Amino acid sequence: MDIHADIPLKNFTTFKLGGPAKAFAEIHSAQDVVQAYQYAKANQLPFFVLGGGSNVIAHDEGYTGLIMHMRIAGFEVVADDSFSTTIKIGAGEAWDSVVQRAIQMRLAGIEAMSGIPGTAGAAPVQNVGAYGQEIADTLQSVDAYDTQTETFVTLTSEQCGFSYRNSIFRSSDMGRYIIISISLRLSKSAPQPPFYDSLQKYFDDHKITIYTLEIVRNAVLDIRTSKLPDPKILPNAGSFFKNAIVEDWQLTDIRAQYPNLPLFDMGDGHFKVPTGWLIEQAGFKGKLLHGIRVNDKNSLVLINEAATGYGDLAAARDEIIGAVRDTFRIQIEQEPLEIS
Ligand code: NAP
Repeated sequence: MDIHADIPLKNFTTFKLGGPAKAFAEIHSAQDVVQAYQYAKANQLPFFVLGGGSNVIAHDEGYTGLIMHMRIAGFEVVADDSFSTTIKIGAGEAWDSVVQRAIQMRLAGIEAMSGIPGTAGAAPVQNVGAYGQEIADTLQSVDAYDTQTETFVTLTSEQCGFSYRNSIFRSSDMGRYIIISISLRLSKSAPQPPFYDSLQKYFDDHKITIYTLEIVRNAVLDIRTSKLPDPKILPNAGSFFKNAIVEDWQLTDIRAQYPNLPLFDMGDGHFKVPTGWLIEQAGFKGKLLHGIRVNDKNSLVLINEAATGYGDLAAARDEIIGAVRDTFRIQIEQEPLEIS
């Protein structure tokens, strides 16, 4: 495994910002993980595991540590019964090609997560989800290098501490584990209604009444293409803000003022409020702020149209967060992790 110096992070992040990484290693195996970690430790460098770079933001000054660029491949059936097949997937596999291969094998459970950029190993970190499915629903276990004990461990789904778009990997145990593979238990059943509202609407609009995995995939890809800018053409990091989770009491005044406030009851005294709607109501839809464009089809997405650096993004982000707070008294948060 080679360690490279001064690799520009803007070439490895879809937001196309970021200065050089002091050290950079391509990780192709579990052995590379150990070697890279030992290199970082010996040289007293922090490390950061980078997947597809689609949900991270890098700073202008770059990174003073070691970037481990996760490239571990693998797609292997490890268990099979009449109802399900379990597949172990290398952390560096592109998530969407995993979805495609699962569908080709007639395996269900991740088809609604079609078209999500990034790697398989990054998927559990934020409990990736879309259109009614999330990875916590099918994930059996995660194999990882535990930097605390310097051993390889297998974490069960329960141990991953999944909640809405969150896990131990980006909260309580952030930076501790280097994920090398994930195992998903996928179902042999055909997709069945009820579907997520916007997916059902798509089926109704297109008069689709027979549901196969391919039909679900194509519908999701079509919906995504109509709402989300292609990062290859317009640099972006997908949803730049998390959807807001609020308590009932926070909504009393807002409901009175905005009777059409979209709300989803999470069943535990909390409600999900689409942050895209809040940003739109605060007047930012389609606006250009400091070289950052608020997407006109989905205000959750920020596009790097002409930012001169991280400072422009931070200024645009803080302006949006401040305006939503002043308008709704709801504190919204950035979704992408920062390389720092
Ligand atoms: P959308 O479909 O316009 O929905 C906006 C918000 O409303 C989301 O919080 C969504 O919850 C919620 N919602 C809509 N219908 C719902 C229902 N029937 N029951 C409960 N909640 C409902 O969202 P979008 O921004 O265009 O994104 C499409 C999908 O991609 C969503 O599922 C979103 O979560 C997902 N996505 C995931 C990530 C990620 O994993 N980091 C990033 C971007 C988008 P849900 O979030 O629970 O769906």
